[in-house]
Amino acid sequence: SPSSDAANKRRYHSQDDTEARAVAEHYNARPEVGREKRKESKIIRLKSFNNWIKSVLIGRYIARGDYVLDMGCGKGGDLLKMVKARIAELVGADIASISIEQAQDRYNGLRNPPFRARFLALDCYSYPLAPHLPDSYTVDVVTMQFCMHYAFETEEKARMMLQNVSHTLRDGGYFIGTIPNANWIVKKVRDQKSRGQETAFGNDIYWITFEEEDTKEFPSYGAKYMFHLEDAVDCPEYLVHFPTFTSLAKEYNLELEYKQTFHQLYQEAAQESHFNNLLYRMNVVGGHGQALSEAEWEAAGLYLAFAFRKRRP
Ligand code: SAM
Repeated sequence: SPSSDAANKRRYHSQDDTEARAVAEHYNARPEVGREKRKESKIIRLKSFNNWIKSVLIGRYIARGDYVLDMGCGKGGDLLKMVKARIAELVGADIASISIEQAQDRYNGLRNPPFRARFLALDCYSYPLAPHLPDSYTVDVVTMQFCMHYAFETEEKARMMLQNVSHTLRDGGYFIGTIPNANWIVKKVRDQKSRGQETAFGNDIYWITFEEEDTKEFPSYGAKYMFHLEDAVDCPEYLVHFPTFTSLAKEYNLELEYKQTFHQLYQEAAQESHFNNLLYRMNVVGGHGQALSEAEWEAAGLYLAFAFRKRRP
């Protein structure tokens, strides 16, 4: 739950950019591994599952001919999904400049790229995007996959992120994304605490650690924990208090349309034959019916997906 404004203000004013740098350095340092190497990963099915979730969101909200902004696009892992969605134009932005170079290379490597694309190395939570885009440039969809929570380090960053989303999005356009589910994380850590255990939990493939011993109250911004996901992430992250997020988004004309945990989204989307077939084609389920391990399924349950719509004036 959100707590004292004073605590937030303290974080808000004392902020320097060491945290943003740490995140950028972490992602820049992650090696680009080939397809074969990726297959050896301990979380190969979880990665496929996360890709499937993104494909469902993209399939539902991105239409043929759309202009799309991928904020926090990383190495361009969603480029092929954009090819399949038959978009017309993509802007990819990310704070990690080496990842952006890799995304550009990946795009250059597409045979007859079916859409135009440009990539920007920019801290989208501290700087406006507009000066880097043509005048009055708008997109139909903004997508932020597994990256928006880093903006919840401070209110100032969350606001800049939302301003970038809203300013670039046309009226009636969609803002879609995936983030860790703060409710679930807080419940888990409180359970630990109530059993007299340390403020950390996880399993073989992921680990979450809170530095703060006090789990009764968390601030709306800057509620930091360390997140480790085998073969994927190892850096500080921030809880996104969803009611704070939705009311802040409203100030930027963004109205919540959809929110679902990954587990619920799976139950719902797997009923649709197209998305069900995709589970096999994307290797979430293997040829012999093998799927996510228990540890992977628990880690998948950590996340939620959302969609907002920009109000028409
Ligand atoms: N969206 C990609 C995907 O789904 O594969 C990458 C997700 S990765 C887990 C998180 C990304 O958020 C990283 O590439 C990181 O550099 C980016 N990021 C973190 N803070 C950012 C910021 N302030 N501005 C832009 N990108 C940021």
